[in-house]
Amino acid sequence: MSSSVLDFAALGLSAQIVRALTARGYTSPTPIQAQAIPVVLSGRDLLAAAQTGTGKTAGFTLPILQKLSDKVVKRSPAGKIAIRALILTPTRELAAQVEESVQMYGRHLPLTSMVIFGGVNINPQINRLRGGVEILVATPGRLLDHVQQGRLDLSQVEILVLDEADRMLDMGFIRDIRRILSLLPKSRQNLLFSATFSDEIKSFANTLLNQPVMVQVASQNATSDLVTQRVLPVDRDRKRDLLTHLIKTHNWYQVLVFTRTKHGADRLVKQLHQDDIVAMAIHGNKSQAARTRALGKFKDGSLQVLVATDIAARGLDISELPHVVNYELPNVPEDYVHRIGRTGRAGSSGEALSLVCVDERKFLADIEKLIKRSLPQEIIAGFEPDPRAKPEPIQVGRQQKHQPRRDYNPSRSSSSSSKPSAKPQTSQSRKTIAKPTIK
Ligand code: AMP
Repeated sequence: MSSSVLDFAALGLSAQIVRALTARGYTSPTPIQAQAIPVVLSGRDLLAAAQTGTGKTAGFTLPILQKLSDKVVKRSPAGKIAIRALILTPTRELAAQVEESVQMYGRHLPLTSMVIFGGVNINPQINRLRGGVEILVATPGRLLDHVQQGRLDLSQVEILVLDEADRMLDMGFIRDIRRILSLLPKSRQNLLFSATFSDEIKSFANTLLNQPVMVQVASQNATSDLVTQRVLPVDRDRKRDLLTHLIKTHNWYQVLVFTRTKHGADRLVKQLHQDDIVAMAIHGNKSQAARTRALGKFKDGSLQVLVATDIAARGLDISELPHVVNYELPNVPEDYVHRIGRTGRAGSSGEALSLVCVDERKFLADIEKLIKRSLPQEIIAGFEPDPRAKPEPIQVGRQQKHQPRRDYNPSRSSSSSSKPSAKPQTSQSRKTIAKPTIK
C-alpha cells in the first residue's frame, strides 16, 4: 500500500472507498478534504469556505458515504429504504455532477443514490424514488415538486448538505430551502459549503448550523494562484478581432469564453464563425439537446470555443481547462471568481484573460476590490485602446437576488421547465443546464 493511499485511509475512510479513489487516480486528499472529512466523520456541523475546483465535492461525499455505510440500512415508516443524506445544489448541472461523484466514490458500497432536477421528465424520477434511495442529490425546485406530490419522505434525513450555498441565495432559493428545512428532522448534521462569505450567508449559516466547525482553504473570494490573470485593455469594437487574434496566434484549442448576456453569446458565436473559428454557445435559452451537443463537442476537442453566460457555465466541471476569456467582464464581481475557477483546477495551471473596454472600468474596479489585488494589464500590439474613448453605460439588467427564479410550479407539466421562461430573462437571471460533467 502506498503512503498516499494511507493518507485517505488515515482520515478514517474505509478500504472500499480508498479503492475507488485509487482507481480514480487520486493520490492524496486536497486541503479541503483533509480538513472537512474528519469534521464530518465526527458528526459536527460544518461551515466550509471552498470554491469549485478545490475538491470540495469529495470533501463532503466521502465522509457521508463512510458514515452511511457504517450503519445498517434504515427504512421509512412506509418500509422503504429511507433518504438519509440530502444534498441540495443550485443547478442541475452541479446536482448531476455531485451524484456522479457519489456513485463513483461509493461504487464498492451497497448504498443507493439518485439525482433529481427539473427540466427533464419527472416520471423516471418518480419510478426510481419508489424503490427508495439513501443519498438524494437535488435542486430545490424539483425536490419541492416531488414533496408537493407526496412522494418524498424526508423525515429520516441524517445529513443535510447545502452545496454552493451562496449561489442558492443569489438565485432566490431561500424560501424553497426554508420549506425543505421544515420537512427535515430537527436533529441532524448540517454541512454548508460556500465559495464566498457575504453577510447574508453568515446570517443564514447562523440560523442553520449548530456550533459549526469552520474550515477554509482559500481566503475569502481569493482566486487561485495557479491561474494567471491578465487584463487586456481594448476598444469595445475591437474585442472580437482581438479574441480571434489571440485564438489564432496562440493556436488555442479549448477556450471557454464568457459573455454577460445570451444575446452577446449568440452574436459572438456568429462572428467567430465568420473568422473560421468553430464555436458554440450555451445559455439558458438553448434547448437541452443543443447544450448537451455543445458540451459533448467541447469535451471531445472538436469544438474549439465554447461561449457561455455565467448561469449556463455554473457548475461545469471542466478539468484542466487551459484558457478562460472574459470577453465581457461580469457586473457581479463574484462571477469573475467563479468564471476563472474553470481553469487552473485541482493542481493544473491555467490562464484567465479579460478583454476590458473603457465602459467596464467600474466592473474591473469592483472585481479588484473583491479579490483584493489589482490585475496586471497588458496592451496587445495592434489593439491599443483609444485614450480619448468615452465610457458608455452598460445595461446590466435587474438584480435577481431575492427573487425566486423558477420552475417550481406543481400544476405545470414537468417538461415545460426546459423551455424558455415567459418572463424576460436578464443577464442576472439564473438558468440551469441539465447535462452533466465535462472531464
Ligand atoms: P470539485 O472542487 O469538487 O469540483 O473538484 C474539482 C476537481 O478535482 C474534480 O475534477 C475532481 O475530480 C478533482 N479532485 C477532487 N479530489 C481530488 C484529489 N484528492 N486528487 C485529485 N483530484 C481531485
